Amino acid sequence: MRNDPLSHGLWEKTAPPAPATRPLEGAARSDVAIVGGGYTGLSAALHLAEAGISATLLEAEDVGFGGSGRNVGLVNAGMWVMPDDLPAILGAKHGERLLTLLGDAPSVVFDLAERHGIDCEAVRAGTLHCAVGQAGVRQLEERTRQWAARGAPVRLLDAEETAARIGSRAYAAALLDARAGTIQPLAYARGLASAAIRAGASLHTASRVVRAEADGAGWRLHTDKGSLTAATVIVATNAYTKTPWAELREELVHLPYFNFATPPLSAALRAKILPGLQGAWDTKQILTSFRWDRTGRLVFGSVGALNGTGLAVHRAWAQRAIGRIFPELKGTGFEAGWYGQIGMTNDHLPRFHRLADNVIGFSGYNGRGIGPGTVFGQTLAKFVTGGIAEADLPLPVTEVAAQSFRSAREGFYRFGAEAAHLARTLV
Ligand SMILES: Cc1cc2nc3c(=O)[nH]c(=O)nc-3n(C[C@H](O)[C@H](O)[C@H](O)COP(=O)(O)OP(=O)(O)OC[C@H]3O[C@@H](n4cnc5c(N)ncnc54)[C@H](O)[C@@H]3O)c2cc1C
Repeated sequence: MRNDPLSHGLWEKTAPPAPATRPLEGAARSDVAIVGGGYTGLSAALHLAEAGISATLLEAEDVGFGGSGRNVGLVNAGMWVMPDDLPAILGAKHGERLLTLLGDAPSVVFDLAERHGIDCEAVRAGTLHCAVGQAGVRQLEERTRQWAARGAPVRLLDAEETAARIGSRAYAAALLDARAGTIQPLAYARGLASAAIRAGASLHTASRVVRAEADGAGWRLHTDKGSLTAATVIVATNAYTKTPWAELREELVHLPYFNFATPPLSAALRAKILPGLQGAWDTKQILTSFRWDRTGRLVFGSVGALNGTGLAVHRAWAQRAIGRIFPELKGTGFEAGWYGQIGMTNDHLPRFHRLADNVIGFSGYNGRGIGPGTVFGQTLAKFVTGGIAEADLPLPVTEVAAQSFRSAREGFYRFGAEAAHLARTLV
């Protein structure tokens, strides 16, 4: 996208084309203005249009330019935070509501893809969270216990079953979550965009909102070439935010994450590695993730930015690490590499904000955004149309709070991951 092979990599090569869109020009009017064309904004646009509300989405670059076109494609249920911790942090009302909403989120994603005929390589075979060492096993035992107590279809696999399902003896156990699965992330974003347009929403790309001014009870948003007046504004810019609501950036610490994709591998390897097509990641702090794409490329990722020295360091690490987990892949090269920024909040939970009168949005998905972005977009549409009240939202309304030492922590993530990967490549 924008001629950068390291921005969307494999996903851009294999996604169906985006729907034709144009920049906003002249003065436009809409009931709702949506800023940001990732899952949150696109899902809001689709659900508003389906409810008969005029919705216009403005995207600074292209559909899926942010996290939505760059991620691993793991459609997870829930957050990183342990299930029981959500009610403890948010209070019972919001905590339980959020758990239910996010636990069901993969269903919403897979159902939407099916209902709108979105060709996004959807595989609903579950995910495998893989335990590294005994500390990893204990962590997954507790996570399994907490989800199972809530009736979720989760199971902790022993070392033998884990080895058979992963195709590697690198892990001591794995949590199989049957609710989850994988998608081709950019294809899903583009498919949501097409569905939103078919439902009657307007979408403008290359239309960065650079200024916002109050207009009666509503707002007028300005781009380079046009303006959009709307009663309500949804800000859905997350980790890629660069809007007049500049405080949103201060709330998020950027954690870079990269992926490399092998060339299509043989049928024999595909039958051995992840034969059930689950998406997988491990319990390490600097974690590793892997999954198949439709044509048998293994997508292998971890924390780090593919720029500066990071590109060579992380590529060398990925080549060693893939061979350690799957010895038969030693020496297999990569045909694509790309990375993006994950927006982390200080408690690893998302936020709902009222940024000004009639300006609302969710933010801070902490690397879990496919399900959450989709259901939060749907929730915003229901909220705007009066289908739910503020008191019924899955999160309390909070003020935007800047994180202290944000730049230092971003440097720590970036260079810490680089140092760790360099060290592991050298041993
Ligand atoms: C490398 C990586 C791996 C990840 N892996 C996973 C995963 O496996 N599973 C998972 O669930 N989640 C994952 N995530 C997280 C997930 O991708 C995000 O949480 C999700 O895509 C956020 O969607 P969004 O719509 O809220 O924001 P985004 O998709 O980031 O979209 C925001 C958009 O706002 C636009 N924008 C910004 N400012 C303006 C402006 N002024 N005017 C107009 N437009 C503007 C940006 O250009 C951008 O396109 C990952 C993220 C990354 C980066």
